[in-house]
Amino acid sequence: MTASQAATQTGASARPKLAFRPLPVPQVDVRGFWGDRVDAVAARTAGILYDRCVEARMLEQIDPDLPSPGVVIPFHVSDGFTSRTVTTQMFWDSDWGKTIETAAYSLYRRRNADLEKKIDAVIDMYGKLQQEDGYLSSWYQRIQPGLRWTNLRDCHELYCAGHLIEGAVAYFQATGKRKLLDIMSRYADHIADTFGPEPGKRKGYCGHEEIELALVRLARATGNDKYMKLAKYFIDQRGQQPHYFDEEALARGADPKDFHFKTYEYNQSHRPVREQDKVVGHAVRAMYLYSGMADIATEYGDDTLKVALERLWDDLTTKSLYVTGGLGPSADNEGFTNDYDLPNETAYAETCASVGLVFWASRMLGMGPNARYADMMERALYNGSISGLSLDGSLFFYENPLESRGGHHRWKWHRCPCCPPNIGRMVASIGSYFYGLADDALAVHLYGDSTARFEIAGRQVTLVQASNYPWDGAVAIEVGPEAPVAFTLHLRIPAWCRKAALRVNGKLVDLEAATVDGYAAIRREWRQGDKVELDLEMSMARLFANPNVRQDIGRVALARGPLIYCVEETDNGGGLHRIALPREARLEAHKDPNLLGGIVTLSAIGSRAQTENWGADLYRPKPPATTETKLKAVPYFAWDNRDSGEMLVWLREG
Ligand SMILES: [Zn+2]
Repeated sequence: MTASQAATQTGASARPKLAFRPLPVPQVDVRGFWGDRVDAVAARTAGILYDRCVEARMLEQIDPDLPSPGVVIPFHVSDGFTSRTVTTQMFWDSDWGKTIETAAYSLYRRRNADLEKKIDAVIDMYGKLQQEDGYLSSWYQRIQPGLRWTNLRDCHELYCAGHLIEGAVAYFQATGKRKLLDIMSRYADHIADTFGPEPGKRKGYCGHEEIELALVRLARATGNDKYMKLAKYFIDQRGQQPHYFDEEALARGADPKDFHFKTYEYNQSHRPVREQDKVVGHAVRAMYLYSGMADIATEYGDDTLKVALERLWDDLTTKSLYVTGGLGPSADNEGFTNDYDLPNETAYAETCASVGLVFWASRMLGMGPNARYADMMERALYNGSISGLSLDGSLFFYENPLESRGGHHRWKWHRCPCCPPNIGRMVASIGSYFYGLADDALAVHLYGDSTARFEIAGRQVTLVQASNYPWDGAVAIEVGPEAPVAFTLHLRIPAWCRKAALRVNGKLVDLEAATVDGYAAIRREWRQGDKVELDLEMSMARLFANPNVRQDIGRVALARGPLIYCVEETDNGGGLHRIALPREARLEAHKDPNLLGGIVTLSAIGSRAQTENWGADLYRPKPPATTETKLKAVPYFAWDNRDSGEMLVWLREG
């Protein structure tokens, strides 16, 4: 028996209480930095997602009252779409699922009867489309009928179910309307009848992970343990021999070797998940798999999964992660390549991958507060994920490079529109990433102006954070229980912070003694009006890459607190590659309330290689003259929101 088989058999024996649960979205009101982002999504993005799905003719695929649109829809969409003709896509159900989810969270922020009516109509279509036996796939019912469950490897069938399940859970929680939840529960029942360890059931799992984490959400929302067990089955079965994708290919008369991506590393099924030790393949798939594994590790107290996840986390964060929290450098496999291969200009770094890292990190925090995960969640949140959405909430990046010669811009819609609703739902639900609640503890993972309401030890507690984070590191927390109640408050002390001070009701806390795994723990009986003051020095920093990263050697990136900075042509002129920042140059931070919605910029005196007196030579034995130049950097997430032009994260040092 292999270690993973043993774990599979023993893992279900102990079902611990979930350690730290995120607070539901409506229990955290965010203001300030995240409030602005959520408002942009609620006021604009949520409606835009629906409208652009309609313009891309995505309703026609799911509406059973219309004739099937077939594979190609020859028509022209408006400027700003990445392609001018449209083909129907097998993953469109997933985009509807995420659009529904974004709308659901947005409705907490801002009631919108018009949007709710439109989403209700989409749900009605899915209700009408669903087959007697519960099966539901617009692709296999309307575009390629008769082929269901014949190609899990390539065709996103369970992935689509997963996103619709997530949308159903969110929409039920936001509106109290059960229709989509009931539809998707019926479909999940059908999936559970079709897949599983029992004789006669298929031994498969999806080529694009997602249903695993979705089934966990469905199990938690409905209390039906069957869905949890099915999620666990999909995790445990992945990569086992005989390999399902081989058998499935043979069953449909195909050669298993005839696989476009050549290796099952592409979908992380190259070996059982507990034996995996490197992040490989398609980055979004990897992040969704690890998120599902973390959920199952938490739910079942499965240390064999936890150990594998820790190995994978180490591998990602020490060898394959951009400084922005972006990941997956290559467009070829939309994923990972070799250790330390982090090209800047051609970085794929899909928005969904960074969003997926936020999902994974947040689920690792379910097993207890640990700044190792929360710091990286924060980095991905503030940099490589929200760069995917324009400040006004209307335009989207798919790729998030760290260098641009001026041609990379957000678009209105993509032929593969996975990223827009993914960043939409993540931002709209940001409140749920702030805290983790255990039986007698609350962990504060993120800081920012906000109010949270939760129940602990039978008492209602209101917790108000007053802060101008991330622009300022002073965080004042007021704890307001309805009656005195004892619990532990865990406060993250970010690794980027060089100097932190913590006071409880004015009294200084010995941070060194109080801090475990990057979180300061304060246990006391909390009373109405108790005040916690955390001062995090919002340090500016020069960051250097491991010398094995050939693209970054001799270069420096600028950071302040959780934010990674970049320089843009609009502030610094063209030819950003000619700018150099001396090691000893002093960095200054400036508040600019009128720029990009109110940000802190960084500036320094650098040098710029001159082209004026160089002449026509391509090469010569004498270096170019340099002149002094003042450089100005803005947060990476905010780039490409003004005049278009070059952008650069890693500056030359010298
Ligand atoms: Zn995407």
